[in-house]
Amino acid sequence: MAALIAEHRVDAVIHFAASIVVPDSVADPLGYYRNNTANSRSLIECAIKGGVKHFIFSSTAAVYGNPATVPVGEDDPVTPMSPYGSSKLMTEIMLRDAGAAYGLRHVILRYFNVAGADPLGRTGQSTKGATHLIKVAVETALGLRPKMDVFGTDYPTPDGTCIRDYIHVSDLVRAHADALSYLRDGGASATFNCGYGRGFSVRDVIESVKRVSGIDFKVEFAGRRAGDPAQIVAASDRVRAVLHWKPHFDDLNTIVTHALAWERKLSARGS
Ligand code: UDP
Repeated sequence: MAALIAEHRVDAVIHFAASIVVPDSVADPLGYYRNNTANSRSLIECAIKGGVKHFIFSSTAAVYGNPATVPVGEDDPVTPMSPYGSSKLMTEIMLRDAGAAYGLRHVILRYFNVAGADPLGRTGQSTKGATHLIKVAVETALGLRPKMDVFGTDYPTPDGTCIRDYIHVSDLVRAHADALSYLRDGGASATFNCGYGRGFSVRDVIESVKRVSGIDFKVEFAGRRAGDPAQIVAASDRVRAVLHWKPHFDDLNTIVTHALAWERKLSARGS
């Protein structure tokens, strides 16, 4: 990384790379602290030594754990309930301290539930054995899985299933471009939630996938999954006001439509 930063005179780093599966982090916390925390520490050090001026970090709503307030704001307490959330929070803390000590200006983007795919069908999530809800549901609709499970129906939410703030990947991409412009214009280090400020339950998502696809697939009700908070929705006023972020795809059916189109494309090419 040090050689690459020097060779290309890199002035800004957008740090996406990480392990991202909450239950895996519960099973292998040290693996998560190595890949997410220790490796981020190395990258931050390389960036500072290489004279990088701006750093954008992909953090997560998981830093909030099971928040007392809904929607949750950036200044609310951070109490992660999984090693995944802790591994990302530790990186936030390193950036804060590195910013104070060495002047590295940075933006922390706390992603809520990223979903959907490029509306033009150029890119989308291609992970084999993906665990994320919308991906799993569209794979099930297309017959790539015989059925899907709902993890927990006894949460303290209106329909008993977990509530999340699903954000279209293209709107999330836009937030990175906005964050880079902000830093290059001299903006101070800051943390932003990336979500729309509204939540959908697991049942809402499954209904949307059935409606959009026109396919009634098999759903089973299973026990809770380790590390899952009941409800998490972003307060998104700061990203809108400070970064002038304007989302274009704040609609669950649109997100599902794009995810489904992408999944069809993937299966048509046999990957
Ligand atoms: N979920 C589910 N069945 C699945 C995958 C996910 O019921 O096959 C639930 C999961 O328990 C959580 C929500 O859907 O309540 C979102 O999970 P996901 O893994 O997509 O994202 P996370 O919120 O864990 O980052």
